[in-house]
Amino acid sequence: MKTQAQTVSIAVVGSGYVGLVAAACFAEIGHRVICVDNDESKVRMLQAGGVPIHEEHLPELLSRHRGDRLEFTTDLRAATQAAEAIFIAVGTPQSQTGSADLSYVDAVASEIARSIDSYKVIVEKSTVPVYTNEWIRRVIERNGVSKELFDVTSNPEFLREGTAVVDFLHADRIVLGTATERAGNLLKSIYHPLTCGDYYNVPGSVPGPRESNDPPPILLTSTKAAEIIKHASNAFLATKISFINAVANVCEAAGADIEEVARGIGMDSRIGPKFLRAGVGYGGSCFPKDVAAFRNVAEQVGVDFGLLREVEKINDEQKQRFFQKIRSALWTFRAKKIGVLGLAFKGGTDDVRESPALDIVKRLVAEGCIVTAYDPAAADRCKELIPPGPCMRYVDELYAAAQDADALLILNDWEEFAELDLSKLHYTLRYPIVIDGRNLYDPETMTKNGFTYLSVGRPGLSQPIDPVAAFFVPRRRDDTRA
Ligand code: NAD
Repeated sequence: MKTQAQTVSIAVVGSGYVGLVAAACFAEIGHRVICVDNDESKVRMLQAGGVPIHEEHLPELLSRHRGDRLEFTTDLRAATQAAEAIFIAVGTPQSQTGSADLSYVDAVASEIARSIDSYKVIVEKSTVPVYTNEWIRRVIERNGVSKELFDVTSNPEFLREGTAVVDFLHADRIVLGTATERAGNLLKSIYHPLTCGDYYNVPGSVPGPRESNDPPPILLTSTKAAEIIKHASNAFLATKISFINAVANVCEAAGADIEEVARGIGMDSRIGPKFLRAGVGYGGSCFPKDVAAFRNVAEQVGVDFGLLREVEKINDEQKQRFFQKIRSALWTFRAKKIGVLGLAFKGGTDDVRESPALDIVKRLVAEGCIVTAYDPAAADRCKELIPPGPCMRYVDELYAAAQDADALLILNDWEEFAELDLSKLHYTLRYPIVIDGRNLYDPETMTKNGFTYLSVGRPGLSQPIDPVAAFFVPRRRDDTRA
């Protein structure tokens, strides 16, 4: 029986943001890993040394372990047979009803069932609704596999895109939902290099907030509790964001500064400062779908979780409010040149799924604006959704997005967006109007530097902007355009 640090043979099914990071990190802590995907081009790219997503530390881990402890394949059958533990990390997108679409999980479970030839621990890594564990078990049994040959467990993933590798290797906690000791022991041995602290003493280990004297704790739970922990965690974080956005709207109306208010709230140790950043609303591949799925799960078990409907409503309205703010600064949209900084749903990632920035850009283009956008990592993914054309240009340099623009929008929080050279920016823009959806600048500094500066939840913004005053701010001296 395995409980101590031992090399475990692992298959990770799905090589996306979670699967690929998990696979690379399992190899990093000493296991033999086969990473499976049914997207042949992605697997070919991974085998050839490519890195399909933008994630700090991932390229170095992949090059360290590829071809040694880490392999890539499309062959789920062979990977299943070679593995002691099989982590399912495929997508669980939102269906039309708001529930999680579990068809990818179902397909993978059936294929695993058809390949099982010895005892396997099957691990839900994807975010799934409560009872999914039961369903996977039934699917496998229906395929003729006897109960003794497998266990289904839940090990939800809490990593954040942009800091995924550090989050995985320096986790706040490792939640293991299991019904049997045998499966629990295998999972514990997989995470042992982290939970005993040894990994943090290895030369070249990925640095992060946890050290060998402060390893991540393991929380052993039932499978249902583990499933609910993941959904409830994301729903709570989304609630915190919508809450602070609603408070920002109160601040805006009352003439207070949300940044001061958020600091004051966050200093309460019962609340904490994280996720109290007002902005354009949450997005990404997780929060929108997980809030909807959790609300749906609650409904299925007879609980009206109306709070989550409000969370979603505030989030939708936040994007709408920001759009109105842009309108209030520009008066009309047709043929206006808008510079955009940020396309991904947040800084540090290339993920544009459910990005509020994309939503805003699409609306601007639909209203007849000419958008020039810059994002350090997400432009290529964005081009698949909003192809380049006369009204949508992508540039490779930050100030090129601002060149001759009637206004500049800041839509996500890459570090470089908070470090703009203000005099260069002022010179580059046609009109020095900056509309900041992430509150990266101090309004006073921006005003002193000659900008009309609008942000979220800060003084003066409750008043409709005087469109004439906002638009007829001094132009660059050499501007010869009509
Ligand atoms: P993703 O879309 O980036 O990756 C999913 C991968 O699974 C894709 O590469 C796809 O080709 C592959 N796949 C689909 N069906 C397959 C099959 N039958 N066989 C093999 N491969 C298959 O998704 P993601 O962002 O990595 O999310 C995966 C799961 O993890 C979701 O449930 C998500 O909610 C959860 N999660 C995501 C994050 C995050 O930040 N992205 C964080 C925690 C949890």
